Amino acid sequence: MPSTFSEDPKRSYGIHIWGNGDFIVEDGVVKVNHGCKPSLIDITRQLRDEGFKGPLLLRFPHLAEANVRRLFDHFERAKREFGYQGKFKAVFPLKVNQFPGFVIPLMEALKDLEYGLEAGSKAELILAMSFTNLGKPITVNGFKDQELISIGFLAAKMGHNITLTIEGINELELIIKEARRLGSPVPKIGLRIRLHTGGIGIWAKSGGYSSKFGLTSTELLEALDLLKRNDLIDRLSMIHFHIGSQMNHISPLKKAIREAGNIYAELRKMGAENLHAINIGGGLAVEYSQQEGQSSRNYTLEEFTNDVVFLLKEISIAKGVREPTIFTESGRYVAADHAVLVGPVLELFSQEYSEKILRLKEQNPPLVQELYELYTSVTPKNAREYLHDALDHMESLLTLFDLGYIDLTDRANTETLVHLIIKKAILLLRDKPSKEIRDILDRVQERYLVNFSIFQSLPDYWGLGQTFPVMPLDRLDQRPTRSASLWDITCDSDGEIAFNIDNPLYLHDVDVEKEEYFLGFFKVGAYQEILGMRHNLFTHPTEATVRFDKEGNVRIESVMEAQNILDVLDDIDYDTKEIERRIRQSIEESEILDENERKEILGELYLYLSENGYLRTINFQEGA
Ligand SMILES: *Cc1c(COP(=O)(O)O)cnc(C)c1O
Repeated sequence: MPSTFSEDPKRSYGIHIWGNGDFIVEDGVVKVNHGCKPSLIDITRQLRDEGFKGPLLLRFPHLAEANVRRLFDHFERAKREFGYQGKFKAVFPLKVNQFPGFVIPLMEALKDLEYGLEAGSKAELILAMSFTNLGKPITVNGFKDQELISIGFLAAKMGHNITLTIEGINELELIIKEARRLGSPVPKIGLRIRLHTGGIGIWAKSGGYSSKFGLTSTELLEALDLLKRNDLIDRLSMIHFHIGSQMNHISPLKKAIREAGNIYAELRKMGAENLHAINIGGGLAVEYSQQEGQSSRNYTLEEFTNDVVFLLKEISIAKGVREPTIFTESGRYVAADHAVLVGPVLELFSQEYSEKILRLKEQNPPLVQELYELYTSVTPKNAREYLHDALDHMESLLTLFDLGYIDLTDRANTETLVHLIIKKAILLLRDKPSKEIRDILDRVQERYLVNFSIFQSLPDYWGLGQTFPVMPLDRLDQRPTRSASLWDITCDSDGEIAFNIDNPLYLHDVDVEKEEYFLGFFKVGAYQEILGMRHNLFTHPTEATVRFDKEGNVRIESVMEAQNILDVLDDIDYDTKEIERRIRQSIEESEILDENERKEILGELYLYLSENGYLRTINFQEGA
């Protein structure tokens, strides 16, 4: 059963399910569970005081670092437990998050581990060559041309420990050609295998026979022959597969490992003597669920690492080959947790349903009068009954309006009173949840307008229906009473996270004219930033890195303000000088403006052009 607004009085928004202990609820606010435990609301206020009023992307590098260390620790533990002789190494797949605010601190922090970067394009390879600590692994996947392969050879010359994973025989031919031209050092060669095993879930297409990538058994044999004939068999060091992102079950991975393990053993027996590594790709899932019983994955990190190590050990013994070095390329698991998007709530759309907007007449239709009496006399005892009566009366009154018996003012009063009664009844019945109340909540959602763009900041929600944990940053000691749907500020009707009774979001009733209210969207650090699009020309939000020093004190560093309007237009190839010229010209040619007004308008417009396009809300802390 989905929990309702009253079954979870502390309003932790499922943080015990998705939070990993990274964030905690204490004193009514969400805090970072690290160092001096700063609250997200304080961090947000500090940045807003500095003038950054739109949505904020907060990065917590310590969380990504901790995830990598957890991965290594678990593999080391599993290796010890099973007496596994092979090594464990990993790379971060750059496609998951290429932003400097993420990649650079991660590589800096993990110098002590066998941890490098995975690249899937020329630009990513250049990043990998620049930021992988020398000697740590670089792997290159994806389709390759001659030029990309040449860059790979240059990386090897620079001393990088680079493996080019080929996706097809033609790529191997290019490598052979390049090896003849450039000589050694030749990068290590990996073979991506086309698995029989398919992935599952919404990202399933990366695995299985219909997958875009990888070599069939026949092609593997052909590759082996080619390598032998060209004296490059000693460079074959890795086989690779990737069964798709966000694996929610462990079983396809186990099948894939058995398949890959046997291929590894067979290739070794056929003369691939330097083949020593199996790269199991990414796919380690992130827990995004906020609801009990709706887990996004059915395994723990412990189980995952145990399964990988145990299966590879078993196959190696059975086939009499050395235990392979295990590589992983987990991206989502490493990056998702580190970023939190903070969106200021701008408006509540049904807030107009307050007592003061009632337009009661001297003489109201009897049913309206009765609604008013229900509203003023509802108590915990009669709440359910009055609620039913109110809904009944509403039906009748709407029919009366359709038939022409009551006027628009009466209809407006009906709407307002019924909403007021529902609000009051829900509050009074909060300790007696029922299906009925849930259904009503589903019907009387409050719409929260949030200063952010779903297309820019949560594209997987728009494209794949992936939900992210969301909660208010404060008031967590107060019971939220409104079933909420969230609207972003794009003018696209898809820019909405609708209330969903199976994964309900309840928020507080706030008066945004008087008080601020912020929503945090968690686990947005994987894929969202780079897939984010400039629909309506909204840009990457202002980002800030939150770090902790040795004493645990918090420091907000490297604030990168969202692009201003002219820069956004420049990026989509407008000549911004031309835009400025046109604006100036039409102002100068205007016949209704005098000289002073022209100057003023021009000045004001220039100011707007130099700011980002998100909406600016007032900071109540300053009493502005
Ligand atoms: C995308 C990708 C990954 C990362 O997958 P996650 O699910 O984010 O861990 C790893 N390896 C390859 C080849 C990929 O294409």
